[in-house]
Amino acid sequence: MLIDALFEPNFATEVGLRPEILKAIIEAQKPFNEIDLILVTHKDDRPFPCGECARLLAEQSQVSPRCSTQVVDLMRSIDGFTKIEHQIYEIKLKAGAHEQVSHNGVTVDVLCLYHEHRPQTINLAFVVEVGGARFVHMGDAFFAESESHLRSYPFEQAHIDLLFLINTIVMAVLQRLSQNESNRSTSWQCTWTRERIH
Ligand SMILES: [Zn+2]
Repeated sequence: MLIDALFEPNFATEVGLRPEILKAIIEAQKPFNEIDLILVTHKDDRPFPCGECARLLAEQSQVSPRCSTQVVDLMRSIDGFTKIEHQIYEIKLKAGAHEQVSHNGVTVDVLCLYHEHRPQTINLAFVVEVGGARFVHMGDAFFAESESHLRSYPFEQAHIDLLFLINTIVMAVLQRLSQNESNRSTSWQCTWTRERIH
């Protein structure tokens, strides 16, 4: 499984993949030879790596991305899009809605939120259950801005083991989590909004 991957390292100061790693992923070289699912949280100011994603899909017919209509629309301009279109699963949710998708034993609940400070950009959050563990990847969504939408998801019935957050609030969350190490459900509640974190 890849989440928001395939970016090259030469974009400003952002972390990216070294060319040889990117090539290995696209060409399914070990240890990247068993990828079958790509989760894309959103399109961003930086160019979504449409070309790299398309090359990977063309090379590996078993790989299927899950992405918003905004991301799919970006990919439509790629040469050869019609050849890989059938591999792409488009998430057509409206903000606040969620949908469950499964792929080769991995269950993913997709939550439709907005990007931080940018309500015109759809940001998908992923609740992924794999190997008996469940993690949440928030993409670039803020809790405070998405709270009403997040509350529509039954987190109380879905114990979360691991939470991936946008880096601007990670430090604050870690600080609070360290005060609640023995109580994971409390820790999760503490991450619910930025206001409560602070
Ligand atoms: Zn972003």
